[in-house]
Amino acid sequence: IEGLDLHVGDMVYVEKGGEIIPKITGVDKDARSMMAGEKVKFITHCPECGSKLIRYEGEAAHYCPNETACPPQIKGKIEHFISRKAMNIDGLGPETVDMFYRLGLIKDTADLYKLTVDDIKHLDRMGDKSAENIVKGIAQSREVPFERALFALGIRFVGETVAKKIAKSFTDIEELENADLERLINIDEIGEKIAQSIISYFANPLNRELIERLKIAGLQFSRKEEDLSGYTDKLVGQSIVISGVFTHHSRDEYKDLIEKNGGKNVGSISAKTSFILAGENMGPAKLEKAQKLGVQIMSEDEFLALIS
Ligand SMILES: [Zn+2]
Repeated sequence: IEGLDLHVGDMVYVEKGGEIIPKITGVDKDARSMMAGEKVKFITHCPECGSKLIRYEGEAAHYCPNETACPPQIKGKIEHFISRKAMNIDGLGPETVDMFYRLGLIKDTADLYKLTVDDIKHLDRMGDKSAENIVKGIAQSREVPFERALFALGIRFVGETVAKKIAKSFTDIEELENADLERLINIDEIGEKIAQSIISYFANPLNRELIERLKIAGLQFSRKEEDLSGYTDKLVGQSIVISGVFTHHSRDEYKDLIEKNGGKNVGSISAKTSFILAGENMGPAKLEKAQKLGVQIMSEDEFLALIS
């Protein structure tokens, strides 16, 4: 904004940044007329709730820190919670969440578990059948395992992979709530940034209260022995690149197998790569790079034998 000296009403040049995102590259100053408005000022406060925006060190994005009370953030958290890779609640989508929120039926994720068919069946475009499906879908989510329930909470920097690592290292959520920095950074792939984010999440009494209510609702906040089945340490410390097309399992299944056996999935080949799990038609550029760096190439069958 400063660099381009943008004014309200300016004619600008736009190109696709990275082929996708519209990027303003210049201003046609000759076209700036009497109509031109004042200089564009970057907003300092959240347009929804009015909180002063913050910016994390080293990041360009500005955030509204009012995580527990800013409406779009609450809705966003509920949408994340119900999404496929989190609690996977059938029949509930962003529009329905938005409607339930506007009508005051839900204020947070724990409220979902109090919804009844009678509460929602009379709503717009709902009806008995959809209402029953939603309530059933919510009830079934109580069986979602610990690692996904953790991911569903939407703790900053705790994505799917990190949630899995945590669920493997802690017996239940109480143990995680009471973990200190040292304990957390001792977990593979959890650095100080993630650890601090987890600590500050649990330091907020509103988050602790929400978890209490989710516990009462019956969510799986402790690890079951069967959740650990299939986990080994066979690939600990190994960085693995997957390339090509496979016959026995899909790429995602192989990624999952690598994680379950303690290995790390990495996107590109480097001197640090332990080996490449290669299927058919591995790209020639990758193959050349692997040979140049002397990285081992392992077939599907060899890999399955290694972890069996
Ligand atoms: Zn806000």
